[in-house]
Formats: sequence, C-alpha cells, structure tokens
Amino acid sequence: MPSFEDARRLILGHVAVLPAETVPLHGAAGRVLAADVVMPWDLPGWDNSAMDGFAVRSTDCTGPTRLRVTGYLPAGGLPTGAVGAGEAIRIMTGAPLPPGADAIAPLEDVEEAGDAIALRAAVRPGAHVRRRGEDLRSGEVALSAGTVVGPGEVSVLASAGRLSVPVVRQARVAILSTGDELVEPGQPIHPGQICDSNGVALAAAVRLAGGEPIALGIARDDRPALRVLLERGLEADLLLTSAGVSAGDRDLVREILDELSVRQVFWKVDIKPGRPTAFGVRGRTPVFSLPGNPVSSLLTFEQFVRPALLRMMGHRRIFRPLRPAVLAEPLAKAPGRVAFVRVRLSRRQDGALLATTAGNQETGILKTLLRADGLAIIPADQGTLEAGQVVPVQLLGSDLVEEG
Ligand code: AMP
Ligand code: MG
Repeated sequence: MPSFEDARRLILGHVAVLPAETVPLHGAAGRVLAADVVMPWDLPGWDNSAMDGFAVRSTDCTGPTRLRVTGYLPAGGLPTGAVGAGEAIRIMTGAPLPPGADAIAPLEDVEEAGDAIALRAAVRPGAHVRRRGEDLRSGEVALSAGTVVGPGEVSVLASAGRLSVPVVRQARVAILSTGDELVEPGQPIHPGQICDSNGVALAAAVRLAGGEPIALGIARDDRPALRVLLERGLEADLLLTSAGVSAGDRDLVREILDELSVRQVFWKVDIKPGRPTAFGVRGRTPVFSLPGNPVSSLLTFEQFVRPALLRMMGHRRIFRPLRPAVLAEPLAKAPGRVAFVRVRLSRRQDGALLATTAGNQETGILKTLLRADGLAIIPADQGTLEAGQVVPVQLLGSDLVEEG
C-alpha cells in the first residue's frame, strides 16, 4: 500500500498534459497558454502623453514662462503640425507627442489665459512622456506557454491585437456513482435508499478545478450495468467513480476496470480517511475509483484528482497552499496513517494561524467538511498531538478574508 506522498507521485507520473485548442479571448480566463505570445508591434506604438496638459519644448521651459497655444490633440488624433519655439499644443492622455515637443506640462501646473498659457515651474525633458515600446517591444515574448490567463494576460493579448489564443484543452471528466442504494436527486426515494450526492458533488469539484464534468449517472452493483457505463466513461479524458471499492464490496468496479484493460497502479492508500482509493490507467486515461463515503470521496478528490486534473490542463501550480498553524486544542491520533483533520482557522493576536477542529471527524459527518477552512495534514508516525503544537494546514478555499 503506497504512502500519501507515493500515491501522489505515482498518479502524477501517469498523467500527461492534454493537447491544445484555440479559444476566443473572452473565454480564455482560467485557461493555460499552450504557446508563447509574441508582440507583433511596440506597445505603446508611439511616444505619447501620460497626462492631460500641453506638449512643450523643454528648452522653452527652464523656469516659469508663457507659451502660445497653437493646436489641440485628443486621444485618437494625429499631429497636424509641430510645436515651434515659444509654442505649446493642448494634448490629452494617450495622444501622440507632436514633432518638436519633448515633454508634457500637466494641466494642473498651468494657468490658461486665452490663447496663451503660463507655466509656474520648469518642465524637464521627457516629463510625462510614455516612450514607444517602453511597455513591450515588437518581437518580445510577452506571455510564455504555461501562463494561466487572467485579466492582465487578456489585456496583453488584446493589446497585441489577438482575437483568440491557443490554450490547453479542458479535461472532460466522466463521473459515475455506483451502488444499489442510490437514487438520482429529485426522484422518489424509498426506505433504504439515499440520494446520489457524490455525482453532483464531484461534478462541482471538477468544474471548480476548471474541468468539464460528464455525468454518467448511477450504475447498479451488477456487472452488465457497470460495464456499459465504465466503458463509456473511458472515452473521456479522465474517469472518476465513487463507491464499490471498499473491502466489503464485491470489488466489481476494479474487476470490470481490469476486464476493460485498465491497468491498476494502486489500490488503497495509507491515509485516513480515504484508504480504499484505487488508481489505474488505460493508455493516457487516468481512472480514479474513489470511496463511496461522501466525505472520503471529496477529500480524495482534493488530494489526488484535483492535482492530476490541473496538471492535465497545463497548470504548474497544482497543490493547495500549506500553512503552519498552531493547534488550539489536543488532537487524538493513532500512529500509522497520514490523517486529514478538518479544521477551522483564525488569527491569533501575534498573527499566527490558530487551528480548531471543525467538529466530529467521523467520515459520515459531511457538515464538518462544510465548516472547515482547511485540512491539517498529520504525518503517519505522529501520535496524539498537544495544544500548541504546530501542524501544516492545507487551505481549502481562497485566501480571501471577511471584512472587519
Ligand atoms: P461504499 O464505498 O460503497 O462502501 O460506500 C460507503 C458509504 O458511502 C455508504 O454509506 C454508501 O451508501 C455511501 N455512498 C456511496 N455512494 C454514494 C453516493 N454516490 N452518494 C452518497 N453516498 C454514497
Ligand atoms: Mg456500496
């Protein structure tokens, strides 16, 4: 049985980055660039004004002075004449610097009187002028392959005149729930049955990781039903099943995956919860068989599936951040397996993160997961911990904090 770290290494050793596709710029946020983006021109494309004011010759403006205003240049306009000695042209932010001028006197430093302006102070050469190409140069690699597209990247792409961009394809993830007790949410439910929550929960997790979930629904615990659906699932980029892999089960999922030529890489990981997780591959298709327990399936998704999905979609940063936190209370644990403990986090006076258990840690208790800010990852050989000990906590949400 692999350790937590070995299981992750085995998984990542078996996933490959998906091929590229071209998407429109307005749909590119969150995707990963599949190729470098080279600037086709200088940015800015010409020397221009960084302020609303007057284009002047700095040699005219070595101290307080008066200049004659001979023209007006809005953003989007082109100069029609040069700035001569003793002259100025009114100019708006972004407009090209007219010939003759080498500096801008901002509006707020100027007093206007009819056709003339009075400068209160000297203007140094190059003042408030943006130079051609000072941001990005023609031929320069503005964005490199592997970059995650955010608003800033979209801005650069648009400035380079791009309408579309090559990105790594989104992973299509087939999701199959297995179990005779399961009913589609919203359908009539009889004693002994439960709603299939894993199907939609895993789909939500896939979507938040940037993948595209494909719902295969529920397979009964019988061979033909499982075989048909697993076979269909293997057409996706990644196959995810839940339940039917615990010791008490008839091992049907793993047996049929084996018949379908999925090579098992491991079954069972030395972690708690989530031990009966299985991983295999067929060609380039990773197959994760997660435990049925809703808490275990979401936790194992977090630890194993999400990093694999992110890697497939070209991401380099695939792990949630780990932060050291001080335990606010003792934590019972038997040495043996790596344990994931659902914790709430707060800030102590001195700024240190303080971890409090989010509640009942039984795997049947889903609400403890809802309350958790993070997962304390307790090493395998560690026994019961005392209050005040420092543990690594994996942050589950964003780093955003509430106001106040
Ligand atoms: P198993 O892995 O089949 O032993 O299932 C462990 C527990 O998870 C059992 O209580 C199942 O009823 C429950 N379970 C399995 N699949 C699902 C599912 N799709 N949605 C909600 N609970 C499930
Ligand atoms: Mg079952």
